[in-house]
Amino acid sequence: MEISSLHQLFLRHPNAFTDSRNCIENGIYFALKGPNFNGNTFAREVLEKGAAYAVVDDAAHAGQERTILVDNVLNTLQELATYHRNYCKAKVISLTGSNGKTTTKELIYAVLSTTYSTIATKGNLNNHIGVPLSLLTIAPETEMAIIEMGANHQKEIAMLSAISQPDYGYITNFGKAHLEGFGGVEGVIKGKSELYDYLMDNNRYAFLNADDAIQKEKLSSHIKKIGFSQTDHEYYNIRMIASEPYVSLSFEGQTINTQLVGHYNFTNCAIAVLVGKYFNVPIDAIKSAIEGYVPENNRSQLIKKQGYEILLDAYNANPTSMKAALESFQKNTANTKILFLGDMFELGEEAEKEHQYIAELAKELGFDEVYLVGENFYKTTSQYPKFKTFEDLKAHLGTSKIPSSSILIKGSRGMALERILDSIYS
Ligand code: ATP
Ligand code: MG
Repeated sequence: MEISSLHQLFLRHPNAFTDSRNCIENGIYFALKGPNFNGNTFAREVLEKGAAYAVVDDAAHAGQERTILVDNVLNTLQELATYHRNYCKAKVISLTGSNGKTTTKELIYAVLSTTYSTIATKGNLNNHIGVPLSLLTIAPETEMAIIEMGANHQKEIAMLSAISQPDYGYITNFGKAHLEGFGGVEGVIKGKSELYDYLMDNNRYAFLNADDAIQKEKLSSHIKKIGFSQTDHEYYNIRMIASEPYVSLSFEGQTINTQLVGHYNFTNCAIAVLVGKYFNVPIDAIKSAIEGYVPENNRSQLIKKQGYEILLDAYNANPTSMKAALESFQKNTANTKILFLGDMFELGEEAEKEHQYIAELAKELGFDEVYLVGENFYKTTSQYPKFKTFEDLKAHLGTSKIPSSSILIKGSRGMALERILDSIYS
């Protein structure tokens, strides 16, 4: 079937889904093949449950009513998404970067949706399947679409840019995340910059944090750009005026007091202000949208309980976000500051060096107590209490009382460090 014909069907049944367990009535099921499942085998079931059509690529599962046989379901899903993206009039803003993509996406969404009909990637659906599914949530009347693109190897952002065809792009930062797949920091810069290549080749715009040296260098004079800076008056002047514990910023005489902790959240907010300004969102709407945003999912959450002030940042971790979090936490004015740091994953050959570096940085910045947990931190030469497994740490905490203090908890998602909370409270 031609993509244009499939698109006609999609316009009549504008819900695409790939998870047969979450069948959308009257939607179109895309039967993807994964490492463990062959989605084709569920085609009949979803049609019986009320799906309008099932797109399959195994002839054995085609032939029945309302199945559409294609060569490759994944390719078809991606092509349909691009076709739909171009059919709709929405401006597409695609984001990538090592840290802060989801936070930035949600902040921009909060700002733009005050004034425009806006959609954004749901949750973290940012890969070769999530990006097309996100694009397929654009409605003909949607004006703005904010698409998160994630990557852990080269050419992935080039592919996701080709699928989403952004009118505007932004790279949150170039950090030490997914070093294993990208091949070191240079690899990260090259890989993320594939978005800039797309924008340049297609004469599209980049949003720029002009205070980020790598961004500034990468965005050569040939690319159209809209930037902010704290100091360079060539760009929109957006300044951080506080970051302890919550970030505040100043723009055009207005003060924006956010509910976000960690000075790294300043750039995430600043870009949302910039995008709002660029698209003529009134400044008071920008202010209230950013002030109203509260992070979810253990991302930099501030919990005040039983005399503790806990910064729970257990959603993910890599050397760049770890360093940013430690430096930000150091500025905390509490009498007693305690760290719980869990392993950072996906660092490949750099793992040993990076864990050693973070352990040394913690010592250098000078905190009152530091607990390290995970196989990588366990291997460092640090003199701080180290625990190979979470259970070992928990057993240790069972016998010792944590004084009332400010506490930073940060580690990769797989460490699930939010489990420590129970051991802290009495
Ligand atoms: P993922 O790769 O899981 O999609 P993401 O890039 O979407 O991550 P967020 O979910 O927004 O990132 O934030 C995850 C964590 O990254 C935050 O809890 C915080 O610790 C850290 N972080 C957020 N923004 C920045 C930033 N600009 N620089 C450094 N670290 C950041
Ligand atoms: Mg994300």
